[in-house]
Amino acid sequence: MKRVLAALLLVLPLPIVLAAGQRPNFTNGVRGFIKIDAPVVALTNVRVIDGTGAAAKENQTIVIRDGAIAELGPAASVKPPEGAMSLDLSGKSVIPGLVMVHEHLYYPTGPGVYGQLGESFVRLYLAGGVTTMRTGGNTNGVMDLNLKADVEQGRQPGPAIDATAPYLNGPQGMLQMYALKDADDARRQVAYWAEMGATSYKAYMQITRAELGAAVEEVHKRKLKITGHLCSVTYSEAADLGIDNLEHGFLASTDFVADKKPDECPGQGAGQKTIAGLDANGEPFTSLVKKLVDKRVALTSTLTVFETFTPGRPMPPGIDVLVAPLKEAFEQRYAATAKSQQSIYTTLFPKAMALERAFVKAGGLLIAGTDPTGGGGVIPGYSNQRQVELLVEAGFTPLEAIQICTSNGAKYLGRDKVGTIAIGKQADLVVINGNPAAAIGDIRKVETVFKQGVGYDPAKLLASVSGKVGLW
Ligand SMILES: [Zn+2]
Repeated sequence: MKRVLAALLLVLPLPIVLAAGQRPNFTNGVRGFIKIDAPVVALTNVRVIDGTGAAAKENQTIVIRDGAIAELGPAASVKPPEGAMSLDLSGKSVIPGLVMVHEHLYYPTGPGVYGQLGESFVRLYLAGGVTTMRTGGNTNGVMDLNLKADVEQGRQPGPAIDATAPYLNGPQGMLQMYALKDADDARRQVAYWAEMGATSYKAYMQITRAELGAAVEEVHKRKLKITGHLCSVTYSEAADLGIDNLEHGFLASTDFVADKKPDECPGQGAGQKTIAGLDANGEPFTSLVKKLVDKRVALTSTLTVFETFTPGRPMPPGIDVLVAPLKEAFEQRYAATAKSQQSIYTTLFPKAMALERAFVKAGGLLIAGTDPTGGGGVIPGYSNQRQVELLVEAGFTPLEAIQICTSNGAKYLGRDKVGTIAIGKQADLVVINGNPAAAIGDIRKVETVFKQGVGYDPAKLLASVSGKVGLW
């Protein structure tokens, strides 16, 4: 009997370990996007940018085993293990998979209408190097939650998803948004969506202080987090209520609007007018920053969406993946923006960058996302790379920009296995054909995206949706 048990123990642990370990059982559909899948993979002679902000290390070898980084060190001392699949990455770089926090699985397909594009978007995100994402608000109900499960269980390719519940907001005009009735209703919504599987929350522009305060309490009871794209509630009020994160840098702040009425949104434009004229070194702003830093409120940079509103900026990357009518609609908007003489974004966009820099200088945790909404010029995956570039334009070094988009995001989400490259971390790695530490534009040259040690082919992911984004 003992011998039988011993034999069983010898045989049984292997499949159990694999099932409980990193990788799911992929469907054939997902397998079609995988180009590297071996028990042990060695990436040799590669430049490692580890996501902590530390200088790049040349000529390293990374050994990936069972979805995790098993060995890491100079190529001269770390040798590929016997039987490992070995890839010589001389001249190339690896960075951690991007961890970005203002993503969506929907896109503006018509006036006031958001098309639910989850299936194509998860492929675009993964192809762009995003291996973990938070959806920053959802207008579909269960799609974010179902896709989170599908990706986890190998039925869809895509990043790990921190799935946000439908927006918590007061009455307004959007058809795809629920209107909270009062603070008790906010509590009910938080409870309901937590039970449904949501892992984060987002408050929106018309929420009241009472509703936000009630929501924060319920969210924190469940050890989850809540962010906000605010207007009716100021950043300062939200920080006092215990919010964890604020979206869109300082461009959604109404803290400086004269005679702002409590619980009322004076219009996003009214807030932005005050931000455009704000002195980054002046007392009103520095005391708001101090409060946010003291209360550990993270700030999300979404420069990508604001760039599309700003005249004189380059055409955003990735527009070609859209179906023709959506591509044409954006191109017309782009031409109209380019001609606009009076746009507030001419001063607001560089100001947004300066204020984000000031927040970080004061010790704030800056995280990043792209927000694929607005006028339709923010394309998942492509825009995540663009966001890193824009942080460099804002004055961060390439290493700092990569850190903001990797380890800072992971830190905020409490996902300590991702966001950096080190022994014991999950093997979420982006192989780049170039050196983004020297030239940040190289971040667009993604060759392979490893998630849990499995290497996906970005070209295949993109080809599967190209020209069809907008349909599904
Ligand atoms: Zn958004």
